[in-house]
Parts: sequence; structure tokens; C-alpha cells
Amino acid sequence: MIKVHIDLNLCQSHGECVAIAPDLFQLDENDFISWQEEVDDSRRADLEAAVNTCPMTAIRIEG
Ligand code: SF4
Repeated sequence: MIKVHIDLNLCQSHGECVAIAPDLFQLDENDFISWQEEVDDSRRADLEAAVNTCPMTAIRIEG
């Protein structure tokens, strides 16, 4: 499993991660990000794309 962290001090709710993997990242009605914190290895490419696309470099993956 891959652990996913988002630095909430950095995230500005741009939503690029949501566009890439809406099943893993969600913005609520107040534009507050939530996400799946443990993700199967099969989704590594989507996670790496989200990490690389986040304009605030707020997403970090581990494992
Ligand atoms: S792409 Fe980055 S800044 Fe935008 S919602 Fe996702 S974590 Fe936040």
C-alpha cells in the first residue's frame, strides 16, 4: 500500500488532484480537500501524476 499525505497548510484547493483521480481525492462543498490515505500499489501512476501536477507541491506519497 502507498501512503498519501497532503499538507493542508499548502493545499489551496486547486483541484488538479481531483481531476486526475476523483475516487482518491475529493473537494467538499467548502472546497476542503479529503483523500484516501492508503492506496493500492496499482494506482501508483495516478498518485505520481497527482504529485507532479499539484501546483502547491502539497501531495507526498510514501511506500
Ligand atoms: S492539486 Fe494540490 S493544491 Fe490542488 S487540491 Fe490537490 S492537493 Fe490541493
